[in-house]
Amino acid sequence: MSGLKQTVIRTGLETLYFSGAYHMMRPFVAGVGVILTLHHVRPARPDRFQPNRLLEVTPRFLEDVLCYLRSADLDLISLDEMHRRMSEGDFRQRFVCITIDDGYRDTLHWAYPILRRHEAPFAVYIPTSFPDRLGELWWLALEAVVARNTQISLLIDGREQILDCGTVAEKRELFDALYGWVRSLATEDELRRVVRDLCARYRVDVAAFCDELCMGWDELAKLAADPLVTIGAHTVNHVMLAKVPERTARSEMDMSRSVIEASLGVRPAHLSYPVGDRTSAGPREFRIAAELGFKTAVTTRPGVLFPSHRQHLTALPRVSLNGEHQQLRYARVLVSGAATAVWNGFRQVDAA
Ligand SMILES: [Zn+2]
Repeated sequence: MSGLKQTVIRTGLETLYFSGAYHMMRPFVAGVGVILTLHHVRPARPDRFQPNRLLEVTPRFLEDVLCYLRSADLDLISLDEMHRRMSEGDFRQRFVCITIDDGYRDTLHWAYPILRRHEAPFAVYIPTSFPDRLGELWWLALEAVVARNTQISLLIDGREQILDCGTVAEKRELFDALYGWVRSLATEDELRRVVRDLCARYRVDVAAFCDELCMGWDELAKLAADPLVTIGAHTVNHVMLAKVPERTARSEMDMSRSVIEASLGVRPAHLSYPVGDRTSAGPREFRIAAELGFKTAVTTRPGVLFPSHRQHLTALPRVSLNGEHQQLRYARVLVSGAATAVWNGFRQVDAA
């Protein structure tokens, strides 16, 4: 995400906080609960080029957020309990669900001890190719290609282009451009092909990220054994489902559930759509998830939950704890529902 966009978001959060608006807006925008999204939880690294930093928060920040949530007038609940409350219309107390996508090893190492100490239920959504060591964490591969080189040559629209990435500023600019370009490609296959070609050309081992960063089945079994933990599905290959044929989308969702059941002995009832924005999950995916019998499915569309979401339990919005905005005051504004209300133009449900 561009620096400008991050600045705009941060300014908006600051305005809502320091004006006190987020507090006054609460009765109108808070809804009945919030599902929080996390990816990596690990200590900050000093590198100046960290284009994927929005996907990680520090253990210290998570600890601060948990202390705040525990002191606030909120219930910390599991996805099953959230599903019950939504289905039955039990909205006596506002709630928060904590969800962690992808199953990184730092979930076990850093996040789990903090969540356990606060007795906070949480869900981990697993793309099964990651513990199977077949996953392609292409966004990290792209980062590595740009980080380790000073120049990239790339075939774009049949023409060889030479792109400079010697300085940190050039690396940031090139990563944003490459990321935007591959995300704009029509199919997931095309995206994977471009990234594989780049990795082959610049000797980046895509498989290594999985080994190094993601939990294996034995580590996942440790988490799954804790009643605080819900294991959710996140497809097999972490594909943007809206960019694959319907048959593939359906089998990605269904197969991941079967693989998790075979490996961990628990059949996931909850799903997270990979990437999860509107280019990756739309009405077709919401319908398939419901047809497959998932109790809930979450997007990364920003928002809090309102009673009307009970008609859209496979199209739920979430609120991301973004690594670029690790201030407790931002988390308070986000949990209040004020920020997402402004971003969504005060529209409560967006399931189209
Ligand atoms: Zn993911």
